Parts: sequence; structure tokens; C-alpha cells
Amino acid sequence: MRITPGAMLGVLGGGQLGCMFVMAAQQMGYRVTVLDPSLDSPAGRTADDFICADYADQSALEKLSSQCAAITTEFENIPANSLRKLAKSCVVSPDAYSVSIAQNRIAEKQFLGTHGFAIAPFAVIQQQDDFATQDAADLLPGILKVSQFGYDGKGQKSAADETELAAAYAQLNHSVCVLEKFMPLKSELSVVVARGRDGELKTFPVSENQHINGILDISIVPARISQELAEQAQAIACKIAEKLDYQGVLCVEFFVLQNDELLINEIAPRPHNSGHYSINACITSQFEQQVRTLCGLPLGASTQHSAAVMVNLLGDLWQNGEPDWNLVLQNPLAKLHLYGKTEARPGRKMGHYTVLNTDTDTDTDTALQEAIAIKKQLEHH
Ligand code: ADP
Ligand code: MG
Repeated sequence: MRITPGAMLGVLGGGQLGCMFVMAAQQMGYRVTVLDPSLDSPAGRTADDFICADYADQSALEKLSSQCAAITTEFENIPANSLRKLAKSCVVSPDAYSVSIAQNRIAEKQFLGTHGFAIAPFAVIQQQDDFATQDAADLLPGILKVSQFGYDGKGQKSAADETELAAAYAQLNHSVCVLEKFMPLKSELSVVVARGRDGELKTFPVSENQHINGILDISIVPARISQELAEQAQAIACKIAEKLDYQGVLCVEFFVLQNDELLINEIAPRPHNSGHYSINACITSQFEQQVRTLCGLPLGASTQHSAAVMVNLLGDLWQNGEPDWNLVLQNPLAKLHLYGKTEARPGRKMGHYTVLNTDTDTDTDTALQEAIAIKKQLEHH
């Protein structure tokens, strides 16, 4: 069944990803209801209707499903049971199964391992005793990550040795964790893939991602890698989407090892920060693809028309008050996106900008230089 423009769509989650979905849907003539527990949120403010409730609130879920033709999520920590409940009376994508895997690092690694995808060596830590095993010792130096609810580097601590590991575990409140071996990375990549209701697949170009303190800082697209490696990453992303029988937009994050071997870091059952460049640099954005997959529409071309570099704007930039946006706006090929969040906390994603090079769809050098120059000016203001 195709859900045609004019219909009401629903989104679970009110963050910036939800907001950009709402804008893409509204541009195509849909109306959108957002459900989020906080009263003021980027998507809640932009939506046609807003339900302020917990993601497990049964009457709120009933209201949402009664007024929406189809529902998606912008946030992987939606209780899978809520998606299951909504799916009884509504089109829901991605489905509870895919989200339940992506929201739990243990389930995610087991799924990827079972299907033969390469991942970093890891061990599941259920209790303190699990550190005493040889398996754990072999994983040092490593990174301890809580199995659920971690994001933007939160809920993870690195540990060089056993002493640091015990301290890290205590800092993470003895939560169920995975201990992952620290990998010497050449670079990090991500691929956003859209899979439609009939199984149609469209991958976006590969992003090359640079992180600071576990938070995405810059995405360079297309990634400065060989065609072969790019195709390999895109093929893996498609295969994961197929194995999950996924419907919607999925992001696969990769580690590139020194020998160009690809490991899968994690998957996100939604559009991704590293795909924001697609709004300005591709024929179809990742958010429009999300609308199209949700509504059973044909997918748009994900072709990139301009080389692009995206830079995140974190709350740290607000230390001396509102940054001078003219530093971004004075570059005619820089596109400023602000999420309208009222409180600028350090590490909080407040917005991003994308610098384009419309002369080329492959050479990112100039856009990168300009993006970094803008970043330095913003930081020193
Ligand atoms: P999040 O859910 O917060 O995005 P990730 O597991 O993706 O958590 O980790 C965030 C970042 O931390 C990664 O993008 C990478 O830069 C670094 N990182 C995580 N795990 C490892 C690892 N095993 N080896 C090296 N770097 C890592
Ligand atoms: Mg990540």
C-alpha cells in the first residue's frame, strides 16, 4: 500500500533527526505527528501535531497510531515493544526486530558475527568476574561500552590495563557491557542505505568521518578512499539491510584498519549524522528517502552532485555566547543548519554546516579547507 501525500505520518523522537524528517515529509505534502517525552524539542516544534509522552505510554501510542498512516523512528532507543504495538494497527518502519538489534551492542555484535560480517574482537561483560578470563585480558587495551543507551561516545571508557578496566566498569555503574579491543584505525567510514518496501536498495556515497572524543566532528564526502573500498563498504551495507529484511534508512559505521580491511563498528536504524551532507549535496536527502521508504514510494536518486564537507556545531561553541553565524553565511557555498535547541551544553549537537564544491562531485580538498577555516574562526570567536 502506498501512503500518498496529505496523509499524517508519525515519528518517535523529537531530536534533530526527527526534525529533518518532518521537514522532508512536509515538503512532500505530508503532515507529521511527533511523540517525545520532552515538552520542547526540535521535531516537536516543527511537527503539525505533538504528543508529549513517554515512548512506552500505552494511551499515547494508541493516539499516535489512530491518527497516523505510518510511523517511523529517529532514535534507536525506542522500546521495541512500542514499535510492535504500533505495528498492529499501522505501517511501522524500521520494524521492532531491526531496532531491537541496533539498540543493543550485544545483540548487534551477535547478529553481525552470525551472518559473517567482520567486527572488532569483543567480550560480553555481565559481571565483574568476566574480567578475570583470558578472553578479557586479550582485549586490552580496549574500550568498555555499555550495551544499551550509549551515544556520541557516552557510556564508554577506554582501559589500557586491568586496573583501568575495573575503574571503567565502576564508572559505568557495573552495567552490562561489551569490552572491545582498541583497534588502530586508518580511518572511519559510514554508508547510509535506503531499502524500500519492495526491497529496492539505494546507497548514498561513502562518508569519511573524523571524531573528537567519540563524537562526530567532520564528514568528508565522498570519502578519500579507493573506488574498490567504497564499493565494498556499500555492498556490505546493502547485505546487512537485506539480512535484517530492513525497511527504511539504515547507517552502517565502519572502521578501516591499516591494511584497508573493513570492520563494522555499529549500525543505526535511522538516518545518521554522517549523512546530513545529503540534504545539500545529493539529489535526494537521507530524510526524503526515509519518507519514501516509509510511504512505499519509489526511492529517489541518492547521487551526489557536489563534493561536500559537513562540520558539527557542538554546544562548546556557545561558551562565549551565540557564535557569529556570519562566519558561515559569508561563504555562499556553506549551508547552515541550526536545530533550535535552547540549552547549549558541551558535547551537545546544536547544528551543523555543510560546505559544497559545486565544480566537482569527487574532489573534497577545497571544501575541506574552507570548512576547517570556518571552524577555526568559530572556535576563536
Ligand atoms: P557511539 O554509539 O557513541 O557512536 P561508537 O561505538 O561508534 O559509539 O564509538 C564512538 C567512536 O569511538 C568511534 O567512532 C571511534 O572513533 C571510537 N572507537 C569506538 N570503538 C573503538 C575501537 N574498538 N577501536 C578504536 N576506536 C574506537
Ligand atoms: Mg558510533
